[in-house]
Amino acid sequence: MPNWAIHLIVPFLALIMVGRKKDYKYILLLLPLAVLPDIDTFAAEHRALLHNIFIPAILFFIGLSIKKMRGIFFIAAVYFASHVILDMFDGGVVLFYPVYNQMAFIDASIEMSKTNQLLWIFDYGFSSYSENWKTGYGYISDSVGTGSLVFVLAAGIWAAYRNRIFEKENE
Ligand SMILES: [Zn+2]
Repeated sequence: MPNWAIHLIVPFLALIMVGRKKDYKYILLLLPLAVLPDIDTFAAEHRALLHNIFIPAILFFIGLSIKKMRGIFFIAAVYFASHVILDMFDGGVVLFYPVYNQMAFIDASIEMSKTNQLLWIFDYGFSSYSENWKTGYGYISDSVGTGSLVFVLAAGIWAAYRNRIFEKENE
């Protein structure tokens, strides 16, 4: 995974920007869905079982058909889809699992070399779903990710605390 922080912050910001004020509560409450797909590591189907196009698509269509809960299901779909998309940019996901067991990937990077040359890569396609993806070894959160999480968590605690004060003032 890019890291927990990126998976949380990117869709959260997008939803806050696009969402209506009455959706904010669900945008916050459903936030854990943004990292939930990674529990497929434990099923040894990492980047496949919960990293496909079908789960967000199902959530989206449920939202379309249940008008009353549309916002909730759309938010859930965005959290799932954003995780899948971000992982596509970070190695790939088995996008059409279990129908087509190849990893869809996008590789897009821009780098400045030591000789001041701009190096850019843009590549996409399918690659094989190899054994070492299945258990998802490696970082759960890299150092930058952990630092960012602490930062966001502190903001969350502060927001909760401030809300409480605010409510008291209104009593
Ligand atoms: Zn993932």
